[in-house]
Parts: sequence; structure tokens; C-alpha cells
Amino acid sequence: MSRKSVYSDIFEVGASGDYLQKRMDDFRSISAFMFFVGAPFTAGLWEWDHFTDPVGAANTLGLRLLFLPVFLGIGLAFKFVRDYRLMSYIAVGGVVITEVLLVEIFGRLDKGMLLGIGGYMFYCMVPMVGFLGLSLRFTVPYSLTCAALPHVIATLGFAPDFPHLQYAVLIWPATVMTLVGYFATTMNYRRRYESERQLQRASDSDPMTGVANRRAFMPLLDQEAARFASSGRSFSLVMLDIDHFKSVNDTHGHRTGDRVICKLAELCREVVQQPDTVARLGGEEFAILLPNTDLVTATSLAERLRKLIEELTLTSEDGVEFRFTVSMGVAGYDGEGASVERLMSAADRGLYQAKHSGRNRVLTMD
Ligand code: GH3
Ligand code: MG
Ligand code: MG
Repeated sequence: MSRKSVYSDIFEVGASGDYLQKRMDDFRSISAFMFFVGAPFTAGLWEWDHFTDPVGAANTLGLRLLFLPVFLGIGLAFKFVRDYRLMSYIAVGGVVITEVLLVEIFGRLDKGMLLGIGGYMFYCMVPMVGFLGLSLRFTVPYSLTCAALPHVIATLGFAPDFPHLQYAVLIWPATVMTLVGYFATTMNYRRRYESERQLQRASDSDPMTGVANRRAFMPLLDQEAARFASSGRSFSLVMLDIDHFKSVNDTHGHRTGDRVICKLAELCREVVQQPDTVARLGGEEFAILLPNTDLVTATSLAERLRKLIEELTLTSEDGVEFRFTVSMGVAGYDGEGASVERLMSAADRGLYQAKHSGRNRVLTMD
């Protein structure tokens, strides 16, 4: 692991929105659970208020009970708020309210700041589980602010007899341990995330050409069909197959044949605007999904690709120059009763007719 990637792992520099979203989604149940059980526990700490100052505790019960809606609210947010950014803002809001309540509670108790220190340690450490799904960019400042806040409040004159040293020897080691815990779980999660993504990429792409395989391509079509149903955005499909490819293999060898397939994949990716929608369906047969593209535009793009291929000269392993051509079928998804199966079979029929009417041509099916 390079130093740069360790740095980016620890501080989540450049972490993608996908990563941050998935992390929150993966931990949202445990976070919600943590805040649901934390609600009665935190309110129940009123018993500690009562133990330390029975008189003052009469004035803290109402504040303690406020922890119920605050914590339950954060728990519900973790359960139902989809967007990780919004969830971070809600968490910040919850933390600020919690801190204000705590300071107010300690202020109402005799020696509240002093005797509340032990309980306060919970607030520095509990988010280690409760905020596990949030980025380090949130949790690290949270922990540090949480630990430093009582020093600041005391220094501002709100708690003149605040025992800085005793507080420091209790809270700061706990904070350091919490930070180590955050880093460890983050690095661990990040590694798992990366390896899952690598596996996903490997299972979705064709190893020889790097484009999508059939397994990854079919859901793309379904997705685009769903988009058509909701927004009416039409799309097109191009299917292509290399002409007389057996003879390319026979004449120039299988390895040169492989290079032809790779070159074709490369050209397809160059011609389309969204290279991720090119797929190798098998052998020397490819498909290109063209989102937001009508049949006329799709046909002219296919024609451009056909010409590019036709004009290309390759050199075989034995140094012999040769050319190859492709046949294509184009179909659009735009009318009544459209379905992915119909689209596929229309493009396939186009390809079949292109082959049977002489090859090296584009046939569009209406
Ligand atoms: P047509 O114009 O009718 O398509 O003729 P064709 O010779 O291309 O016929 P077909 O599409 O049926 O042939 C596919 C050939 O592609 C057969 C197979 O040997 C070859 N092939 C399939 N996959 C690969 C591959 O990964 N590498 C190489 N070099 N050849 C492959
Ligand atoms: Mg062929
Ligand atoms: Mg074929």
C-alpha cells in the first residue's frame, strides 16, 4: 500500500459519493439501533444526577427526558434518510443539541461538571458505534470537539472550579482510543469496499477487451427501459458481428483474431459518448446501448463506426496487412408495447439481414 493510499484511506480524501453512500447504507441499521437503545439509557442517567445532587436533579428531569425525542429522532433518521450528506447534517444537529442539553444539565447540578465527567466519556465514545457509517471527516472532528468542549466551556468562565487535569487524564486517553477505533474500522471497511468493487468489476467485464459482458449488459437495458417508462426518453441498440471472422482466424491465427476483437471493442468505445454501454455479448459479437438516442442518430453513429472499421488496416503476427468489416443491426426503443426482448430481437434481425444482404452494412429495423 503506497503512502498516498494510506493517507487517503485514513482521511478519506477523494472518497467517492458512492463509497460514502454505501458505507452509510451498510451501517444504517446498527446506527439506528444504537440510538434507539441510547435514548432510554441517556434519559435514565437522570438517576446519576439524582445520586450526585438530589436537590438539583429536580431541575434536570425535563432536560433528561428531552434526550428521548432527540436520540429517537437520530435513530429514525438513520433508518429512513437515504442521502448520506443529509444524514451527516442531521447528526451534527443532534450532536449540538445533545451537547447543549448536557452543559445545561451539568450546570444545574452541584459539582455537575465534576461529577458528570465519567458519564461524559460515553458521549465521546458511543458515536464510535453510532456514527460508524459516517465519514472520518465527520467523526474525527466530532470526537475532538466533544473532548475539548468542556475545557473551553470551563475556560470561558462557566465552570470556574473545573478540574482540567483530572478531566484530561480520563477523557483524552478515551478519545485517543476512540480515534484509533475509527481509523481501524474505516481502513478495514475501505479495504472490503475496494475488494468488493474489484470482484464486481471482474464479474461484470469481459477480461479480454475490458468492456461489459452480457451479464452486466442486460441490467443496463432493463434500467434504460425503466427510464423510458418514467420519462419517455427513447434509446437505441446496435448489435454488431465481425464478417467472416473464421477466415481471419484461419488466415492470420487465433492471436491476431483476438487482437481484432480488442481493436473492435476499442473503436466502439471511442465512437460512443458513454463507453460503459459497450458490451461483448460473446465471441466476436458486440452490442452498444445508446441512451437518449433516437433511431436516426443511432443509425448514423453505427454507419460512422462501420466506415471507421472498414478503413482500418491491421498487421497480423506474421506482418501481413489486412482489413476486416462488420455487419450491424440497429433498433430503437420508443413505441407502444416496447420491451427489451423485442428490442434485442429487432436488432438481431437487423444484423441477420445485414449479413444476408452482403455484409459490411448497417440495417435499421423500424
Ligand atoms: P459471419 O460473417 O457470418 O459472422 O461469419 P463468421 O466467420 O464471423 O461466423 P461466426 O460469427 O459464426 O464465427 C465466429 C467465429 O469467431 C468462430 C470462432 O472461432 C471465433 N471466435 C469466437 N470467439 C473468439 C475469440 O475470443 N478469439 C478468436 N480469435 N476467435 C473467436
Ligand atoms: Mg461473425
Ligand atoms: Mg458471430
